[in-house]
Amino acid sequence: MSAVPALLDTALSLAAHAVPVLPLRAGKVPFGNCPGCTGNACGGRPNMKSAGPCRCPGVCHAWAAATTDRRVLTSPPWVSAWRRAVTVAYHPGGAGLTVVDLDNAAAVAWARETLPATHTVPTTRGEHWIYQGVMRSANAVRSGVDVKSLMQYARWLGSGTGRMTVLPDAVRALVVKEDTIPGREGVVSSLSPPWDRSTATGCRHTERFVRTGLERGLILVRARTESGAGSQAFGVARFLAAQHAQCPGPCGLEAIGEEIVAAAVLVGVPEPYARRAVTNGFETAPERAA
Ligand SMILES: [Zn+2]
Ligand SMILES: [Zn+2]
Ligand SMILES: [Zn+2]
Repeated sequence: MSAVPALLDTALSLAAHAVPVLPLRAGKVPFGNCPGCTGNACGGRPNMKSAGPCRCPGVCHAWAAATTDRRVLTSPPWVSAWRRAVTVAYHPGGAGLTVVDLDNAAAVAWARETLPATHTVPTTRGEHWIYQGVMRSANAVRSGVDVKSLMQYARWLGSGTGRMTVLPDAVRALVVKEDTIPGREGVVSSLSPPWDRSTATGCRHTERFVRTGLERGLILVRARTESGAGSQAFGVARFLAAQHAQCPGPCGLEAIGEEIVAAAVLVGVPEPYARRAVTNGFETAPERAA
């Protein structure tokens, strides 16, 4: 066996912190789709804006391939891509983050005057300013400035410096179309899933099973940036609760519910509505075995 590609090492440590990652090929762009996925013939990935059924094992569909799943990241098709890759990228929206990509010195100077200070990472000619919270992405919101969050990827350029702050209205306002309510501060929990095996003493599932299911559900909720995040939260809660119908319990469903609420609030669902949706989802799931 040959050594693990160095980029895969980086990718795995990011994934372990719940940051979905993907490899970039020469030119610092995503790998092309495989023949079966060309032109979205497969229907697209489940986490795309129009959810599709694609379960392609390849590194297809750009940002939508990004994953935290160690099994996928280390699978043969991905390892082959890591060997040919030139750098690691991540899906900021999937990590609960927004990257303000400042392309040049003038853009950085503008940000220093206009935006609240946050975590920054140097880039070739400018800086990434990274905020906690997600929003719609948009390129060229002004000269030399892109906003990368939902449905986008950003290059991973190292861990950077400075304390990360909550996504401010000043950044949200850069992308004009507003049809959601900004997320409440303090509910961003996607960087450290609170579901804890030690409290789920009556759950018959493995930690991996529970976390993978939860992460997939959260991706579905976060992808609903236009509408429907509330009903998606209901569906995810119902689906996840049903997985535990045969467990004696407790399964730590409260913690799972909090994660779903946080994800829905991040994409603009008012918190009381998100809580109701999750509670209803749990209550309408098949009855737990006695
Ligand atoms: Zn494919
Ligand atoms: Zn596909
Ligand atoms: Zn369980």
